[in-house]
Amino acid sequence: MAKKQKIKLHSVKGMHDTLPSEQFIWDKLRKEIKNTAEAYSFSRIDTPILENLSLFERGIGEETDIVEKQMFVLPSSGGERMVLRPEGTSAIARAYIQHGLSRVSQPLKVYQEGPFFRHENPQAGRYRQFHQAGFEIIGGENDPIYDVQIIMVVMRLLRNLKLKNLSIHINSIGCKTCRTIYKKKLLKYYKNRKKQICNDCNKRMLKNPLRLLDCKDDKCQEIKKGAPSVIDDLCSFCSKHLRDVLEYVEELKIPYQIDPSIVRGLDYYNGTVFEVFSEVKSPEGEIVLSPALGGGGRYNYLFNALGKGGTYAVGAALGLERIIETMKATGVNVPIIKKKSVFLITIGAEAKKKGIVLLEDLIKTGVNIKESMGKNSLSAQLRAADKKGATWALILGQKEVFKESIILRNLKTGSQETIFLKNVLAKIKKKL
Ligand code: AMP
Repeated sequence: MAKKQKIKLHSVKGMHDTLPSEQFIWDKLRKEIKNTAEAYSFSRIDTPILENLSLFERGIGEETDIVEKQMFVLPSSGGERMVLRPEGTSAIARAYIQHGLSRVSQPLKVYQEGPFFRHENPQAGRYRQFHQAGFEIIGGENDPIYDVQIIMVVMRLLRNLKLKNLSIHINSIGCKTCRTIYKKKLLKYYKNRKKQICNDCNKRMLKNPLRLLDCKDDKCQEIKKGAPSVIDDLCSFCSKHLRDVLEYVEELKIPYQIDPSIVRGLDYYNGTVFEVFSEVKSPEGEIVLSPALGGGGRYNYLFNALGKGGTYAVGAALGLERIIETMKATGVNVPIIKKKSVFLITIGAEAKKKGIVLLEDLIKTGVNIKESMGKNSLSAQLRAADKKGATWALILGQKEVFKESIILRNLKTGSQETIFLKNVLAKIKKKL
């Protein structure tokens, strides 16, 4: 008989489980996202995990890394091809158009939080399934005040999470007019340096020249430093818009720096673009910038691409895994608030029957009750109560069932009393 091959089970490359022991930090983060978003008047929106491929081809642009290389495309079953969403903004723009959200009070301020998928080379801080919180302001005027409101909500959230040494790197990539002039200048500069740059950058020259400034390859760093800056070529409108944004940021005392290398990878951005970093200690003890915790910008062109030109919008997305990693690396403590709990112990079949009803009654009324009713012996259940850190135990044995009573034991001191079952709820509520 052929030997059965041993299968090693593991999660899909670049995708991770979040175990129960990690949930508290995710809970804290999600709670903070909700509270901060609501404080700044953002309402929650949720869109499906699957979207039609054409949404991203039209929205993000066919010649972007995401559309070219990073999409998880599902086999088509007759209709249009679907993808696991690689980002959130395009889907929200789709929902805005589809549901006629331009008819509600403008601008619409919405936030979302959930998983996204990109077929990238997994490494620290870069996964194939990751989570983002996104904030969008859509509709209304093309006013820099909204760019700043996005920056405010993002920075407030990170500060509420006790992240320190935050800095926002801001740039403007201009509008189609000034960007065209700039791209020509940039290409001229790079044409003379083709042999010194990486292969990817040679491709970028043909397809998406702005992304030359985004390159992380060591070879290209020195060349990048000497590249012309887009800011010098901004038209008067884009230049004023950026100046206004920076003035508001200064008024708010948000630490920032102008960084001409921030270009963002997607076609839909125009004008303001930014990324947020935190200063962290490297393993060698040097102070370095964390990978970007988030980024965003103005994306008026997305609505042109989706057929509703003239809709102004600005937004940002934060990477939740990176936030958690930075919180851990910088020693941000998330205190686990341990609520006092009571542990139900049942001994014998009759006690189990009574106990299950009591358990349901206590849960129903909001008592923090734990149990381990699959175990039979008193000692095994007491050990389980200890592991769960319970303060009190309710012990129900044959004798107690017969007398309609229950033992209430203080697990810290060992003192105990017998009470009537009918009084248990009132007594427990007082104790907790
Ligand atoms: P983007 O949508 O590319 O602007 O990304 C916004 C933020 O999401 C980034 O600044 C990262 O914090 C996070 N992010 C993007 N891609 C990944 C990834 N593959 N893995 C983990 N986090 C990511």
